[in-house]
Amino acid sequence: MSLEIHQFLCLSDNLCVLLHDAATGATAAIDAPDATPIISALATKGWALSDILLTHHHADHIQGVPGLKAVFPHVRVSGPALEADQIGGLDRELSEGDKVMIGTREAQVLGVPGHTRGHIAYWFAADHLLFAGDTLFAMGCGRAFEAPPAVLYRSLMKLADLPPETQVYCGHEYTLANARFALSVDPENQTLRRRAEAVAALRAGGRLTLPTRIDLERATNPFLRAGEAAIQRSLGLQDAPAAEAFAALREAKNRA
Ligand code: ZN
Ligand code: FE
Repeated sequence: MSLEIHQFLCLSDNLCVLLHDAATGATAAIDAPDATPIISALATKGWALSDILLTHHHADHIQGVPGLKAVFPHVRVSGPALEADQIGGLDRELSEGDKVMIGTREAQVLGVPGHTRGHIAYWFAADHLLFAGDTLFAMGCGRAFEAPPAVLYRSLMKLADLPPETQVYCGHEYTLANARFALSVDPENQTLRRRAEAVAALRAGGRLTLPTRIDLERATNPFLRAGEAAIQRSLGLQDAPAAEAFAALREAKNRA
């Protein structure tokens, strides 16, 4: 039996994701942006929250924890060991290489520093699922707030190396704005052009654009393609090291 997934928007552009292991009833929230909509989604589904898997310490990812604990006092809260002090109240501190079970399903913890210094991602290898938090977005990536861009770039390359069919869930629905920026630096990319049209249609219809997939990101996400000649040309950085082109892309996106 596999995992059932329920994804919805909360706050303005955060994505809440619930994972349910039907075999055991175990249910996890990936991050906790806002307790109220998560609690009502759980009630609608008839699921009891057993776990919260936090990716990083930013308020829009952890502020729902106390409200969820009030309703589900036995919930186990797991999160990045390196940010345990900032988050507070973790039941389990996780680092690269750790494993965490949601019922019968196993996630590997990947250390992906950059957006924050201890950011982690959760990879359910057998289920072909990745929860990337604010490290990798559809056609974009998080800002390098707490590490040099090269550190974030290395983390993104690590995610890009996961199996191509891996479905990727992200912390935010930023896809439309990311597509616009991606087209500005990779205008001849036909796969990107078609994808930009497809996501515009989805959003116009009030639909979410996630999950994405690793192979689709490798083909269309400029931040994973910083070593490509076409992108380096549009930056005026021909033959630059990929990490340097990545830093220039991140800068340009910050100003966009
Ligand atoms: Zn964040
Ligand atoms: Fe965020």
